[in-house]
Amino acid sequence: MDKNQLNIESRLAQIGSVEEPVTGAINFPIYQATAFRHPRLGQSTGFDYIRTKNPTRQVLEEACAGLESGDAGFACSSGMAALQTVFALFSQGDHLIVSLDLYGGTYRLLEAILSRFGVSASYVDTNDLDALESCRKPSTKAVFIETPTNPLMMITDIQAVSHWAHRHGLLSIVDNTLLTPFFQRPIELGADVVVHSATKYLGGHNDVLAGLIVTKGKELSDKMAFLHNSIGAVLSPSDSYQLMRGMKTLALRMERHEQNALAVANFLSSHEAVEQVFYPGLPDHPGYDIQCKQSSGNTGILSFKVKDARYVEPILRHISLIAFAESLGGVESLMTYPAVQTHADIPLEIREAVGVDERLLRFSVGIEHEQDLIQDLGQALAKAAAEVEGGTRS
Ligand SMILES: *Cc1c(COP(=O)(O)O)cnc(C)c1O
Repeated sequence: MDKNQLNIESRLAQIGSVEEPVTGAINFPIYQATAFRHPRLGQSTGFDYIRTKNPTRQVLEEACAGLESGDAGFACSSGMAALQTVFALFSQGDHLIVSLDLYGGTYRLLEAILSRFGVSASYVDTNDLDALESCRKPSTKAVFIETPTNPLMMITDIQAVSHWAHRHGLLSIVDNTLLTPFFQRPIELGADVVVHSATKYLGGHNDVLAGLIVTKGKELSDKMAFLHNSIGAVLSPSDSYQLMRGMKTLALRMERHEQNALAVANFLSSHEAVEQVFYPGLPDHPGYDIQCKQSSGNTGILSFKVKDARYVEPILRHISLIAFAESLGGVESLMTYPAVQTHADIPLEIREAVGVDERLLRFSVGIEHEQDLIQDLGQALAKAAAEVEGGTRS
């Protein structure tokens, strides 16, 4: 049976499941080895040194390449390590066009580090082809998209942008962290490179730091293999195992994350303390149609703007099932305050231009029971409103 022909649920559950003739073990072992014996001079088992290739990491990488419909996968020590490795494709003088509402760490990498090496970036609403066109320069080499964006859940048409990029000889790179290949496969829509913070949904249990790159095409895959090995920010064998362990349940988790997030989004939409809910699964979301066209489901992340900035502090103090913590994509629900936490490195004028202001909260909806989550949110919002009202009167 060709396992690559199976449905994605089966491929996920079966990651690393090989027929091991000696013991019959169901799971792929952790090869905790940095060096591999050469049979003879000039011969190799295919494995020489851990940074270049390790059997456990290789199983993960091949599985991810297949899941994202790419040709090669590269497991990195973090999402940032994956991004750094991808950005190493570019050279001094090169220019990138990047999603305006961007993960704070990616912005920091570009502005504080890549800029010192002469790689510059322009930030635009990547769903606006005129805006893309107006910041394209002769030195532009790639478009970098997050869709949905974090935290404002803006949707970009991957196919349209990839098509535009290819017309101008640019690479199309997509950070697919928020949807995972279970819901969205950018390479099938024309992207050349997909990046993940596997720390989030792929790992899924708030317990492993990892990143992934998947490339399409031999030339690009060879270049990335060279960079991955040369830079050396690769994933360890035990973390590779841990990540595969998490990915086996990705399908089940994503379905529950989506279901819970939609329930929470509906609850918040009709709550009097909430001004706006940002969730692409709501039919009134401006990116809803594109989202339905290019993805088979929705993320478990949503953001919401409370009516009064004074609600934020007591909400974060009163949530109890939901933890006030950074990160996203794990089974446990987490809430964060982007303006002060995840997006603090983005200058105020850029943050305010996109709407990441002091009233915005981001909620990574876990896989708990939706009623428990809604109840926890409801009591925190009610207490916050009562405290703010009380404070106003005194
Ligand atoms: C977390 C995150 C990253 C960075 O990944 P790490 O694993 O934390 O290094 C990059 N992009 C997005 C969208 C993220 O959420």
